[in-house]
Amino acid sequence: MNRILSHFINGQQTAGHSSRTSTVYNPASGQAQAEVLLADSPDVNAAVAAAKAAFPAWSETAPHRRARIMFKFKELLEARQDELAAIISSEHGKVHSDALGEVARGLEVVEFACGIPQLLKGEYTEQVGRGIDAWSMRQPLGVVAGITPFNFPAMVPMWMFPVALACGNCFILKPSERDPSAALLIAELLKEAGLPDGVFGVLQGDKLAVDGLLTHPDVAAVSFVGSTPIAQYIYETGARHGKRVQALGGAKNHMVVMPDADLEQTVDALMGAAYGSAGERCMAISVAVAVGNVADALVEKLATRLKTLKVGPGNDPQSEMGPLVTRTHLDKVSGYIARGVEEGARLVVDGRGLSVPGCEDGFFLGGCLFDNVSTDMVVYQEEIFGPVLCVVRVDSFNEAVQMINNHAFGNGTAIFTRDGDSAREFVHRIQVGMVGINVPLPVPMAFHSFGGWKASLFGDHHMHGPEGVRFYTRMKAVTSRWPTGIRAGAEFAMPTMK
Ligand code: NAD
Repeated sequence: MNRILSHFINGQQTAGHSSRTSTVYNPASGQAQAEVLLADSPDVNAAVAAAKAAFPAWSETAPHRRARIMFKFKELLEARQDELAAIISSEHGKVHSDALGEVARGLEVVEFACGIPQLLKGEYTEQVGRGIDAWSMRQPLGVVAGITPFNFPAMVPMWMFPVALACGNCFILKPSERDPSAALLIAELLKEAGLPDGVFGVLQGDKLAVDGLLTHPDVAAVSFVGSTPIAQYIYETGARHGKRVQALGGAKNHMVVMPDADLEQTVDALMGAAYGSAGERCMAISVAVAVGNVADALVEKLATRLKTLKVGPGNDPQSEMGPLVTRTHLDKVSGYIARGVEEGARLVVDGRGLSVPGCEDGFFLGGCLFDNVSTDMVVYQEEIFGPVLCVVRVDSFNEAVQMINNHAFGNGTAIFTRDGDSAREFVHRIQVGMVGINVPLPVPMAFHSFGGWKASLFGDHHMHGPEGVRFYTRMKAVTSRWPTGIRAGAEFAMPTMK
């Protein structure tokens, strides 16, 4: 009998109402390790009701007091980061050091949220008219929900809830049903840090839970991160139900390799960015655009390095890359590789059929490398989300820029070059939300904001940083005068400040 992973509502783990479940696997062994409950509408209602009941007191709590709870949470999470990383690795499959990195990037958002008293300060103008003052302020929205993907079960929720809570909202997290345990440890630590019951909840589930949140009249806003078709659905459905929505979608991130790039550095960068976390990162580089005569040497060096890539279970310190998250996902990625071969791309390194000793039933795929990929191929156009790097050869910088700008996705991109002019021109012209210059994974720090363009983001606001504070608050503008500032007589013309 597998463990049952439950919801966390009103400050405690609860089995809730529904008996539907989904299996959680250990991707390295290929074995089922738990069943996660899948919420139905009474569970959604219970989670929202608990959050709604907690909102008045939490939103009235002074910002510096809310920040103190975030400080405490940060301490507790730092002390337990190894445990959280192990949980992530056991359900997601990524290697332990990578899981620790994920926790560290999430903690940075907690640190940012500790500055909330400063971040919530509005603007003030004395004497906008005689005896009249004006100011703006930001107030929380109410109950907000976060729906998150499998690939960062701790970091992506932490892009959202530290800022949402610090701003005075109550937050319901609907984690991915593929790796739901990280959310439960986070919930316990928030409680231990002193967060009042109901302010943070975890609702385990699938589409039923998501639809319940999207249509619930007491949910004011929804943050989503996941694949593009679902992001678009979340955005449209949430907006139709009057909610503020930010929905981050999929990606196909290109790295332009200019002929003057340092090839050793470029290959190091590509290896990490394409194959780290088995390519299951929204900022993974999945296309290398080789400009001019750099392609042959690049492909040769990549192929050589790939042969020594250490693929193994996430809890083995020797492993550089773990398994994929599920067998279904492994089959999907393998299907893309077969498709690329059919389409005429040259499969330089084929990672299929890899067997890891001791983990024969695990969902492993070795690193794969395609050369001579063209823009009409499905392997170029669609997000594969696995350890598969496509090399596209182009003649010029302009061709590279045009190609990236024509792609449907616009999450991240990078250029490797020693030439400042090319780099500046690239930054200026590229239609992508996050850009790296000799930085392969240009993930913004917590005090900046994270988000893509085009089919990689639906909505106006990016995540965390100043954009996060804007997303989780409403602006109020106040104009005020006292009796000495009031002049006698009714004014029928549109008032102007005198
Ligand atoms: P997914 O879209 O399958 O699932 C994301 C969330 O949506 C999960 O919580 C899931 O339960 C829910 N969901 C799934 N199907 C649904 C449906 N039909 N209706 C309502 N809700 C549904 O994504 P995933 O496979 O978990 O994650 C991988 C994807 O996330 C990739 O496309 C990746 O690029 C993307 N991603 C994007 C970013 C970004 O910042 N843009 C970051 C991380 C991941």
